Amino acid sequence: MAFVDLSFPDELERFGVSTTLDCFNCGTCAAICPLIYEHFPRQMIRYAQIGARDRILENGVELWRCLHCGLCTQTCPREANPGELILGLRRYVLHHWRRDGHVPS
Ligand code: SF4
Ligand code: SF4
Repeated sequence: MAFVDLSFPDELERFGVSTTLDCFNCGTCAAICPLIYEHFPRQMIRYAQIGARDRILENGVELWRCLHCGLCTQTCPREANPGELILGLRRYVLHHWRRDGHVPS
C-alpha cells in the first residue's frame, strides 16, 4: 500500500525541484519519451505530486533510465520541466539510499 504525503512537493525543493505541482498529468512527456517504458516519466512525477515516497524509493533505479534527451521538457505544455524533475528525484533517492546504506541491485 502506498502512503500519500502532500507535503512532498515542498520537500523536493531541497533537491532542486520547484515545478512538481505544475504538471497536470497530460501524458505528453510519456508519449514523447524515447524509452517507451511504463508511462515514464509521467508516473514518477505523479508519485512525486502525491508524495508516494515508498513507490519512488522502490522504483528508484528506474530514474536512471532517463537519457537526458530533453524531449519531455521541450514538449511539456505546462513548462513543468519533467527532465529536471527526474534529476531532482534522483537526488532525493540517492540521499535516502546513502542514509540507509542501501545498495540497489
Ligand atoms: S510533466 Fe508536462 S508533459 Fe508530462 S504529464 Fe506533466 S504536464 Fe504533461
Ligand atoms: S529527458 Fe529522460 S524522461 Fe525526458 S524524454 Fe528524454 S529520456 Fe525521457
